Amino acid sequence: ISSQNHAILGSLNEAQRRAVTSDAPTVAILAGPGSGKTHTLTSRVVWLVDYVGIRPENVIVATFTVKAAKEMKERIGKALGNGREKKLVLGNFHSIARRYLAAYGRHIGLNQKFGIADDADSRAIIKRICSRKQVQPDPAYVRAWISKKKAKGTEVDEKQARIDASKSPGLQELEECYQEYQSHLEKSNLLDFDDLLVRCVELLQKFPSCVSNIQTVLIDEYQDTNGIQYELMKLFAQKHRRVTIVGDPDQSIYGWRSAEVKNLWRFLKDFRGTAEISLEENYRSFQSILDLSLLVIQQDKNRYKKILKPIHNKGSRPALRKLKSASAEGDWIVSEIKRVIMMSGGMLTHNDVAILLRSASLSRHIENGLGKAGIPYRMVGGFKFYDRVEIKVIIDYLRVIYQPENNDALARIMNVPKRGIGEGTIQKFLEEARQASISVWSLLSKHSRGERTAKTKITTPMEQKIVTTLLRPLDAIRKKIGQSHGPNGTPFGLVEMIEQLISSINLQKHIKTTYPDDHEQKWANIEEFISLAADFVREQAQSEDDDLLPEIEGVEQTKETEILPRFLANVSLAADAQTGDKDEESKPVVTISTIHAAKGLEWPIVFIPAVYNGSIPHQRSEDSDEERRLLYVAMTRAQNLLYLSCPTFAASNDDDSSPSRNQLSPFIEPIHRAFANKGPCLDRPVMTEIAKVLKRKLPSEDDIFRELPTMFSIEDNLFPVDPEQRQGDTVEPPRAKRPRLSGPGHRNTTG
Ligand code: ATP
Ligand code: MG
Repeated sequence: ISSQNHAILGSLNEAQRRAVTSDAPTVAILAGPGSGKTHTLTSRVVWLVDYVGIRPENVIVATFTVKAAKEMKERIGKALGNGREKKLVLGNFHSIARRYLAAYGRHIGLNQKFGIADDADSRAIIKRICSRKQVQPDPAYVRAWISKKKAKGTEVDEKQARIDASKSPGLQELEECYQEYQSHLEKSNLLDFDDLLVRCVELLQKFPSCVSNIQTVLIDEYQDTNGIQYELMKLFAQKHRRVTIVGDPDQSIYGWRSAEVKNLWRFLKDFRGTAEISLEENYRSFQSILDLSLLVIQQDKNRYKKILKPIHNKGSRPALRKLKSASAEGDWIVSEIKRVIMMSGGMLTHNDVAILLRSASLSRHIENGLGKAGIPYRMVGGFKFYDRVEIKVIIDYLRVIYQPENNDALARIMNVPKRGIGEGTIQKFLEEARQASISVWSLLSKHSRGERTAKTKITTPMEQKIVTTLLRPLDAIRKKIGQSHGPNGTPFGLVEMIEQLISSINLQKHIKTTYPDDHEQKWANIEEFISLAADFVREQAQSEDDDLLPEIEGVEQTKETEILPRFLANVSLAADAQTGDKDEESKPVVTISTIHAAKGLEWPIVFIPAVYNGSIPHQRSEDSDEERRLLYVAMTRAQNLLYLSCPTFAASNDDDSSPSRNQLSPFIEPIHRAFANKGPCLDRPVMTEIAKVLKRKLPSEDDIFRELPTMFSIEDNLFPVDPEQRQGDTVEPPRAKRPRLSGPGHRNTTG
């Protein structure tokens, strides 16, 4: 096939095609939302493997979230066939780094059995250090400081560091906390998220041959890479210096995690001769949605301006609705979801709806509303399934099975279920172990054998109890790993391990007695967790060497054969983990997501509740421009219908405080007249357009009227826009004949 005939190019426009087939060593695509950046990047991977002939194991593809990685892998898989996508080194930066460290970490002295300290773990460790040292700054600040220090990479701006130091007298304290935190992680053989990147940089600097096979590196959502990820990218690409990046500076929303847009300009400087390609057509949204989104982002006067033209018609005007309270807002959203889905006569389902929140804490009223109406939903990002107490317990047990030296996890489970061990005793164990420089596990084992490390007041019977009810059962489970099990001699795998664990600590009884009101829900979550584990085992079996890197001559690789560490890493790294995924096909569900986790995704119908000052921009945020970009990201997720809403009175969680009045978000206030004030109009022309954009079958009018239930007054709901509001909507009044919609609006919306 000639390059221009390759099947993957069929769905691309001219500029996208140039980007996909470019043979420039470095390619940068900077373009707005919905312009097909991800689509182009995915197509380029396929083209490089299938047309250019690069072996998939020699390609690194970095996405921003685990979910995005999964979707991309599926799409590439469909185009490539033969399961070739499984060989790609594809994932987010953290999971790719983890794979390299698992394979080669021992070359830099890393204990191969490392575990991962996730956000919650790091927070807890730092909190403890701060309280022991009685330091001034708030633990959250200490943590952010440490993380920043790590994330800046080795190229920390020394001058700036000195200025910072002179400004903050607590620097000495911070440094001490940092040292102590780091030594705690080392002792427990844990790497935090930043360490994964930092240690991988160290590995690749010292042993570049680990990536000597890598021929090309591709990165999505480049605007959100931080300093250390930038270095990692350069190291991945060090041999061939072939890199493709795609991104949009307007969508940089991870500054709080040290992401720096300036890495974009740094890239263009470091890789001279980069082919810069811009994509200017927005394939995602109706014009009216894009117009309003651009009005928001254009308030930022310092942005890098790009052209973004809608290819679709105007569609229905986005709605902005003020409601009395947060619960009224929840109810309104629910009634709109019902209305739209019914009026679509089956063309739209709950799967097409997303509710995007600035912060996870806003979800309560929305969840209540959906729950009351019996609308199924799933939660993405920020509301971590794995953070639920009942799940966290199991994970902590698994962590201790994997790494007995993980004191933090051991301390958390020591009295769960209740073993009559008080917090004070646990602290004493921790302190004694710290002083003896051994783990609590070995301390207790030693004591139970009658060996004493120091004089303690802790009674032996209590220690004995811990040993018999906790350490021994876990030892027993650990010994079974990999052995055959059951009458048929099936291997003792992950699921068997979790099941045996649950029964040996009698978790069900613990849940029942500790949570009498919602033990059923908690137990259902545990069952869900087991089935997630079973899915994980199945997936791993299907792609056996999925997680293994190719053999490189001269560099010894550790093959990670055990499933437990991989599962635990997956749990820790899946910050955007979600529940209810399995039901996606059988039962459509509404998605509730944080805006951060919705990055890169799209839905036909998007709700953005709580657009008030204090929510967006968030009261604790220091960077108003980043908050505006966040709103822009949220709005540009919508394909067809976009709803913003704002409760007049704040959703106060403690009901006694008198409610305060909310002000509309300053990003929306200046343009609020451009919105419709009720639900978007859903008449025939709009429905026809939606069908066209989504490539779905338009239901007949009969279908729709058959489905319209009597509870809706058609007058009120079918065309709910006030007559004076209608001006400016392209759609025609109800009884008019189907109008001819004007052709694609190629209005220049240069920023
Ligand atoms: P974001 O900045 O939000 O991540 P993006 O630039 O990555 O957006 P994509 O998600 O790749 O955009 O594409 C947006 C939508 O447009 C997708 O549904 C994609 O399939 C579609 N699309 C992209 N390119 C084309 C094209 N040439 N023809 C038709 N549809 C396209
Ligand atoms: Mg994208």
